[in-house]
Amino acid sequence: MTRPDPSTRAEVKARYEAERAKRVREEGLGQYHSLSEYHLDRDPWADPDFTREPITEPVDVVVLGGGWAGMLAAINLTKRGIDNFRIVEKAADFGGTWYWNRYPGCMCDVDATIYLPLLEETDYMPTEKYASASEIFGYCQLLGRHFGLYEHALFQTEVESLTWDDDAHRWDLVTQRGDHIRTQFFISAGGLMHKAKLPGIDGIERFAGTAFHTTRWDYEFTGGSPTEPMDRLADKVVGIIGTGATSVQLVPQLARAAKEVYVFQRTPSAIGVRGQQPIDDSWFRSLPPGWQQERTRNFTEVVTGNQPDRDLVDDGWTEAMRTDTQRIPPTEEERTELETIDFEVMEAMRRRVDEIVQDPETADKLKPWYGKHCKRLCFHDEYLPAFNRPNVHIVDTDGRGVREMAAAGPVIDGTEYPLDLLIFASGFEITTGLVGRLGFDPVGRGGQRLSERWHDGTHSLHGVLTAEFPNFFVVSFIQAGFGLNFVHFLSESTAHITGLIDHCLSDGIESIEATVEAEDAWLQTLWDRSGAIAGYNKTCTPSYGNSEGARTMLTARGAVFPGSLMDYAAHLEQWRATGTLEGTRVVRRE
Ligand code: NDP
Repeated sequence: MTRPDPSTRAEVKARYEAERAKRVREEGLGQYHSLSEYHLDRDPWADPDFTREPITEPVDVVVLGGGWAGMLAAINLTKRGIDNFRIVEKAADFGGTWYWNRYPGCMCDVDATIYLPLLEETDYMPTEKYASASEIFGYCQLLGRHFGLYEHALFQTEVESLTWDDDAHRWDLVTQRGDHIRTQFFISAGGLMHKAKLPGIDGIERFAGTAFHTTRWDYEFTGGSPTEPMDRLADKVVGIIGTGATSVQLVPQLARAAKEVYVFQRTPSAIGVRGQQPIDDSWFRSLPPGWQQERTRNFTEVVTGNQPDRDLVDDGWTEAMRTDTQRIPPTEEERTELETIDFEVMEAMRRRVDEIVQDPETADKLKPWYGKHCKRLCFHDEYLPAFNRPNVHIVDTDGRGVREMAAAGPVIDGTEYPLDLLIFASGFEITTGLVGRLGFDPVGRGGQRLSERWHDGTHSLHGVLTAEFPNFFVVSFIQAGFGLNFVHFLSESTAHITGLIDHCLSDGIESIEATVEAEDAWLQTLWDRSGAIAGYNKTCTPSYGNSEGARTMLTARGAVFPGSLMDYAAHLEQWRATGTLEGTRVVRRE
């Protein structure tokens, strides 16, 4: 490991700041476009002619979303004996992100034995340490069958309106298929990354070739399938905008299949060793009961810097995240130590680029200049080598991004890049307002819309309950905990929500909501605890992690419970254990 001397550290900090400054855009989150604006939101996997009769029914719970969050919520309800529920999902199957993302090379870089939930109950052994998207999608379907979720699902169905009836203490939900569902509880499990976005490029619609977002892959055009190589690109020039985790997985596949590949880069990702390997059957079968929870918690503890005695997953993530360098240390000496650790992790990533990429100029362009907590790290063993191929070209925009589009392709510094195919690997809305991401505006008590109540950002208790919207439960990182292993967070969040619903049903509670005072107190708790992260974030290059560098009330209210997800879960558990439902307003059955 390189121990940087103080002058090197100062240079690195100056470089981080210079690179950050280049990327800050005044429009912040507003720079992006939605897929629907450009008619790029067609579902490639669904039958467009699907129809069914509308239904009218009363239920106890509606779960919005059939991805991990929705499935885990539904499974928890079933386990608690609550069977009268519906799952409303706009896709044609379960899977959420794994339904939409079927691009070549798609996989999960979090260890499959902790990412795939409920492995002990389903007795399923993942095939590889990092599971492919096809395997994960298949596992989602298996969960659907195993827990009898299909009979509850309304697929290809979108909510049009959700209105609270304060006399009956019920929500009235209407869908675009004419369904009228009256429900006591509503769980918004509509996806943390379900709304894909397009890059903010003037005249993006001018592009005359074929274009799509990575969540809407067109195998008709590229040939192949999620499990077979693309065989229609050999004479095609392909461009890809974005170099985040998606692009890192996709570029090696394009490199193999296309005539030429142009990778348009605004900010390079930091790419550590992946180390894919098959799962050893005898090891897996020897794991003692309860192993998955222990392993999942251990990973979360390690990657939030809690340094437990053992590191059970022991991979690139745990190596890089072992020390939380965002915290404010008590002494100057420790501050220097944290900076050094952060520097070392990122320096190792930069050195890896030099070791792999043969052309020094290309290697320089691919080096990440920011702290290790600023952007999601990536782990891949084929992305960097792809740039050694003569048909793969990095088009570095020096932090400005692609801003101009011609009919033939992107224009960078006056140079036009003619393309047959343009792929948008430009990510998702994550920290934008909930209403925009839901696609409908719930109407709470007294006709108040959620967009009005949350006009300046989220108001919540624990990120879950909100005032004036009784029995409305939100699964979201915002004002809640955060887990690098998303599925761990979703397991904790849905366990809390379904536990509360169960409590209400068995205790004669008709409705529950947060009080305004409790919402304010919760926000203050988050702000008091997150000073250190806010300080670190200020030095970071823009990303969804810091709402593209924007500093507004909306983003301030987007705070996340800092520290370990286990602390957030323990906080919720303690709160539930008191049995007083502190900070809520409840109405009991008469
Ligand atoms: P990201 O938001 O991470 O990346 C979007 C990319 O588009 C960034 O490189 C961004 O640059 C770039 N971009 C945006 N606008 C422009 C522009 N005008 N010109 C050029 N580039 C532009 O999206 P991803 O789909 O890659 O990943 C989203 C999330 O999905 C990940 O963070 C991760 O949580 C999850 N994911 C997880 C995987 C896993 O293995 N577990 C795999 C894939 C995704 P800039 O960085 O400068 O903003």
